[in-house]
Amino acid sequence: MESSPEELAGLKYPFYVRKLDKRSRWGHKTDEIEERKRSVCKAIFDPAKTLFSLYQIHSDEDLKRVTIALNASRERLNDQVDYVAFKASEINFADINIIEESPGETDCVAANNLHVDVEGANGLRFLALCSAAIDANREAFRITRSNAKRMAEEMRNYGCLVFAEGTSCKCQQSSFGDMK
Ligand SMILES: [Zn+2]
Repeated sequence: MESSPEELAGLKYPFYVRKLDKRSRWGHKTDEIEERKRSVCKAIFDPAKTLFSLYQIHSDEDLKRVTIALNASRERLNDQVDYVAFKASEINFADINIIEESPGETDCVAANNLHVDVEGANGLRFLALCSAAIDANREAFRITRSNAKRMAEEMRNYGCLVFAEGTSCKCQQSSFGDMK
């Protein structure tokens, strides 16, 4: 049996995800912890910026939409995708604002609705966020190539607009009852 996304993320839904360029950006358990926090923070929250993209994930379906929409925008539909998950309470505690009215820019309407920006006054806010997650033994998690391939097939069947032949982003209509 494959692990569920919640098992992989080490958190129960709902949570927020930030996509990692590489899983190694999140460092490793054996790294010296304070050094790890600093290097992780620098790697995933560019110190020159204060505004970053996250996606809110309420279900496996949400994670599928976001993963395929992100892959489609890179024209690599079946590529593996690495994420780290944060709880809303960790983001709030770090004094980082969640800006919900900031739709994503993918071709999938459903994925765009899950996009938020987060804004912190300075890098220390993001260091606090990364520290909280690392202190909670959070690890990065991966959507494998075979999983991404299966997800892409399902999204294609929904008629998602990330596909050239997509007609309607029907993915927006399924199991979206809990969304605003
Ligand atoms: Zn779609």
